[in-house]
Amino acid sequence: MTITTMGVVGAGQMGAGIAQVAATAGLPVVLCDLNEAALERGRASISSSLSRMVKKEKISQTDADAALALIRVTTDTAGLADVDIVVEAASEDEAIKAKIFASLDAVCKPEAILATNTSSISITRIAAVTQRPGQVIGMHFMNPVPMMQLVEVIRALQTEDTVFRSVQALAETLGKVPVDVKDAPGFVANRILLPMLNEAMFCLHEGLASAEEIDTVMQLGMSHPMGPLALADLIGLDTCLSIMNVLYDSFKDSKYRPCPLLVQMVDAGYLGRKTGRGFFSYE
Ligand code: NAD
Repeated sequence: MTITTMGVVGAGQMGAGIAQVAATAGLPVVLCDLNEAALERGRASISSSLSRMVKKEKISQTDADAALALIRVTTDTAGLADVDIVVEAASEDEAIKAKIFASLDAVCKPEAILATNTSSISITRIAAVTQRPGQVIGMHFMNPVPMMQLVEVIRALQTEDTVFRSVQALAETLGKVPVDVKDAPGFVANRILLPMLNEAMFCLHEGLASAEEIDTVMQLGMSHPMGPLALADLIGLDTCLSIMNVLYDSFKDSKYRPCPLLVQMVDAGYLGRKTGRGFFSYE
């Protein structure tokens, strides 16, 4: 199936980014979230991201306006009834995702593909809550979506090959490079990345160096474009903790134990950039 229309559930940093790249590629998008305030924030972030791209002469003002006009926002999942694919990008919580997939399954047309942008949760288990498990797949974009080329395309045990190929083709239409990855906790990207970020948090927790110094070590010493603590702040510390918990609970291996400082920061509501405070301050 050629995918020509998209729904996105969750208008946070990832959902807004996915809606933006789809609309920029000419796909009409329906963006859905729990409330008007979240949708307003999502639309504002898309609008300012497009403006930055116009300023940098990456796209024309006309194309930016056309992309924005292709995005319709709604709080009602019934608005997703006619799209070819829905990409779910709600919070990294299996219970939330299971509920969303059950309701998408009820509302979306029978041939629609249901994809999740989960960072770590089993696609196979998400597929199992629907009556169309062969049409459920992982489509894991990277943050920030408009800048990053990679999409991990993750087949659930149940995913049909035709669905995999349609999603691979969609990723290419969006200007991304799809990589075929098996369904396992954290897939490849976060199986490697998150333990590294977690270790940086342990270095801070144990007082080995300051947050600035830890990030400088990795930027200047390993040529990372961003230090691990700044990257954790960008991802969101709640999301980082959820991913570490998925790795720890799935593998039962102490090497994935979330850093106690990460747990405490999330308990305090210091979630990184999205709350203005994480390992660094963004006020
Ligand atoms: P976020 O906190 O910025 O946004 C989550 C959004 O989901 C919020 O707007 C919230 O209102 C909405 N939401 C929650 N429950 C919902 C529901 N039942 N129905 C509709 N909307 C709902 O989170 P994010 O960083 O955009 O992450 C979203 C997903 O993308 C997560 O699964 C995360 O693991 C994954 N992801 C995140 C990153 C990253 O760097 N942050 C990268 C790749 C994938």
